[in-house]
Amino acid sequence: MRVLLVEDEEKLSSFVMRGLAEHGYAVDIALQKSEAVALASDNEYDLVILDVMLPDGSGVDFAKWMRMNEYTGPILMLTALSSTNDKVKGLDAGADDYLAKPFAFEELMARVRALFRRYGEGQESSVLEFADVSMNLIHRKVTRRGQEVRLTTKEFALLEYFLRNAGRPVTRTEIIEHVWDMGFDSGSNVVDVYVNMLRKKVDQPFENKLIHTVVGYGYEIREE
Ligand code: CA
Repeated sequence: MRVLLVEDEEKLSSFVMRGLAEHGYAVDIALQKSEAVALASDNEYDLVILDVMLPDGSGVDFAKWMRMNEYTGPILMLTALSSTNDKVKGLDAGADDYLAKPFAFEELMARVRALFRRYGEGQESSVLEFADVSMNLIHRKVTRRGQEVRLTTKEFALLEYFLRNAGRPVTRTEIIEHVWDMGFDSGSNVVDVYVNMLRKKVDQPFENKLIHTVVGYGYEIREE
């Protein structure tokens, strides 16, 4: 999942970025509203975490701009202000939830999971399931046929993206956009390398293969 984090307090943004990266999220940071607009114009994000007070404008206006530009994913606002009026303004502008500063990272993660649950189609719990694969998003644990499959953070993120798009082919570009961040060299074959590593762990030990190549397109997770 690719996250746009708009936060001008560098200490806070790097703390949040590190935490999200540990959970397998690909994160781009904008320190200003103008930077956020530029990033959002070029990239597709699955989640926006947004500070209200930015040096060159308001996070509320950025949320409004995102919605006007047909961003349909979740927006979580961070704020030091806790007056009801400010919350109402943010929610009216298209934010989904509020988190008051300071906060514990675990609380942020719990809110993020709740937002994805709310937005996910039919995904009611913190467990993603497909065929005999089960992914627990809280415990960061994957099992297949009850057997634990140990994945690295990036492999986990890639499998999470496949599971969220089960039954639909996804292109390498889509995978790159949602699993990797700005620092990624899109000319490399890193997607194929990671898919192969994932196959070794998720598919190879089992009879029925789930991760399929869609020739000339990309990959798809499906049952034969
Ligand atoms: Ca700020």
